[in-house]
Amino acid sequence: MCSDATALLRLPLATDAGTGHSPFSRNETDPRHFFKAPHKTQLPAARTAHYGHTESISPGLSMEKIMKIFAIESSCDESSLAVLDTDLREFLFEMTHSQILLHRPHGGVVPDLAARAHLAAFPPLLSEWREKNFDNPDLIAVTRGPGLAGCLAAGFSFAWSLALFFECPIIGVNHLRGHALSPFMRHWQREISSDTLLPHLGLLVSGGNTLLFFIKKDCQMVILGRTSDDAAGEALDKGAKLLSLHYPGGVEIERLALFGDPGAFQFPRAFRGCDLKFSFSGVKTALLYQLRKMPAEEINSRRADLCASYQEAICDALVDKVAFAVQNFPCRSLGLSGGVSQNGRLRAKMQQLAERYEVPLLLAPKEYCGDNASMIAFAAAIDPQVVPSPEDFHADLELTQ
Ligand code: AMP
Ligand code: MG
Repeated sequence: MCSDATALLRLPLATDAGTGHSPFSRNETDPRHFFKAPHKTQLPAARTAHYGHTESISPGLSMEKIMKIFAIESSCDESSLAVLDTDLREFLFEMTHSQILLHRPHGGVVPDLAARAHLAAFPPLLSEWREKNFDNPDLIAVTRGPGLAGCLAAGFSFAWSLALFFECPIIGVNHLRGHALSPFMRHWQREISSDTLLPHLGLLVSGGNTLLFFIKKDCQMVILGRTSDDAAGEALDKGAKLLSLHYPGGVEIERLALFGDPGAFQFPRAFRGCDLKFSFSGVKTALLYQLRKMPAEEINSRRADLCASYQEAICDALVDKVAFAVQNFPCRSLGLSGGVSQNGRLRAKMQQLAERYEVPLLLAPKEYCGDNASMIAFAAAIDPQVVPSPEDFHADLELTQ
């Protein structure tokens, strides 16, 4: 068994610095509890900074009273706003502006362009929300990382201004926890208890991250494995570039793979079965070498086979690790989330695995697979992480805060 993972499982990683309670601590009084103990959590008020000291402009607000969470996501190439009514368990407003067309000519996300595009996108998104005449929010939740520094700064500044304007508390939400918890969204909305779904083993696959995590029965989340080089989405995007396909490559590879033979080319599957680390740089290099051996006409005529085989190798490498993890970390549900989780082949393979081990597979709803503010609002609702002052907002590279 991977010693990293077993060591990690002993650590209470998800503790709330403000109160000492775990953000995953359970609300024992509610049989339909979903992870948090909201009535116990006092949120900090938004504060103004005056020459070196801070001053409260609104009283602290208890999560018990929180009804409308206004969430902001801007960690990479999507500017997104959402409002979640925690009482109705309904999203009242969701709007995302994607920068795909802006970055496409460059073959990937250009950080400076992305940050500027967030600055341009937020005011019209906010106007859309204002036009709907919604009540003022009770809480602002903003993605605090991980992500591109300039993009996070744009979202954070916007969020902080709103918190000051509405005189409401603000909390920072870890982007990866937003993705990781998104497969639970529909269960929470239907008031299905999370009791029957824990422990949970989740695979998070996005453009910049590939993570295997475990949510224990006591609701604490631990990371079991991650990639040691490229993320799965990154490997798809880079592979697509080698194949002269558009950004974002995962979508294009899946589209062409439908017409190809997944067994046509043998691409490597790294670290098969022996630990919980992922690696995708080898498969990308194997594709490069394969393409170098082929004349341009052959690449053109066999592009669908190349896509199908490349996609198959990446999906196998992902699902293989999940299979290895299920055997070592028995769970009551499997999860799949992140942008790459929209991939039909990956979904089908995860479904087969879930059936083999007789556990339900919780899929992030397709509309919440890519980056979006709804998952940030949801994470804030069930997994509140108190961030008491602007000084505590820093680039957050882990899943643990
Ligand atoms: P995210 O980082 O969560 O915004 O997701 C973006 C990543 O998801 C990019 O690497 C895309 O190539 C990838 N992606 C999006 N749709 C698909 C799909 N249908 N199949 C595979 N990868 C996808
Ligand atoms: Mg994205």
